[in-house]
Amino acid sequence: MAAAQNRRLPLAGLAIAVVGAGRIGSELIRNLGLMGIGRIDVFEREPHVADPLRSRYAVHEGDFWDTLTLTGLQGYDFAVCTVDCPTARQRMNQKCVVANANLVQAWTEGTLAIVGAYPFAAQPDSACFECDSSRASIPMPIAALKLAVEETPATAGPATRIATASVAGALAAALIARIAAGAHGSVARRATLDATLGEGASLEIPRDPRCRCCGSLQRPVPIVQTRNRWEAAASVAHTCPEMLNQRLQLSDEIEGLPVDSCCVRELTARFHGGPIPAKFALTEVGGRIICLDFEERESGSAPAASRVAASHQPGH
Ligand SMILES: [Zn+2]
Repeated sequence: MAAAQNRRLPLAGLAIAVVGAGRIGSELIRNLGLMGIGRIDVFEREPHVADPLRSRYAVHEGDFWDTLTLTGLQGYDFAVCTVDCPTARQRMNQKCVVANANLVQAWTEGTLAIVGAYPFAAQPDSACFECDSSRASIPMPIAALKLAVEETPATAGPATRIATASVAGALAAALIARIAAGAHGSVARRATLDATLGEGASLEIPRDPRCRCCGSLQRPVPIVQTRNRWEAAASVAHTCPEMLNQRLQLSDEIEGLPVDSCCVRELTARFHGGPIPAKFALTEVGGRIICLDFEERESGSAPAASRVAASHQPGH
């Protein structure tokens, strides 16, 4: 076989995390089930959306930002984000880049079903979702372009929206099967299919060295498990004051702190030794960016929900 040099992943042996069980997610899950994927775990915020899936799959309730940790992500062959929200897609990308987990994003724009594959684990130099943000340069069939202009998401009818979501979910499943079979190479790629016309495009995405998410990263990013406690003993502050100037880029925006980078001194002053509301931070050590992972490892297989509840308690 032509693809024999690629590592093949038998479908039955795959573990896939599906984030979002709405229209796109449920169609994806249905297809993955029919393909015989070994393990499908569902991360869904709305209990009533997750309910029909509980008998067949492990369902993690709550915001995936809380329930799908960096360590958790590393246990999956693919993580698929089907949440039709740009911020959710950026956050999934952010976590998967750092966790070095293969990412697939599926969403819709008007009548277009769009699926992006970013094989971070398979290819250290894979482009990320944000390398790919210049939509204007996407070559698309002329008819699709015209439709995208004329038919904005607001004007696509309900039936069209349902069909487009189904196409996106099925397309994502097909792409995963293709990558797993080794037929896809290990290249970041975005496939676009117009659900009403059947016209599509598929293109490789090059990594953007100026990407705000992955541009400065040398992957795989070393991950250091660390306690989320911010205090500096007076003796340390005295003998090693430069440590307090170490700059960090936090995974979460914190009111009153700069988004791009803040220093340890600001965090210790603000949080007085307690935890900061962030999942992880990037910081440069010896010329290389490493990740400080604050999501403390769970002992055994405690349900993620308990940790989520705990993390929302003030002062925890
Ligand atoms: Zn990037």
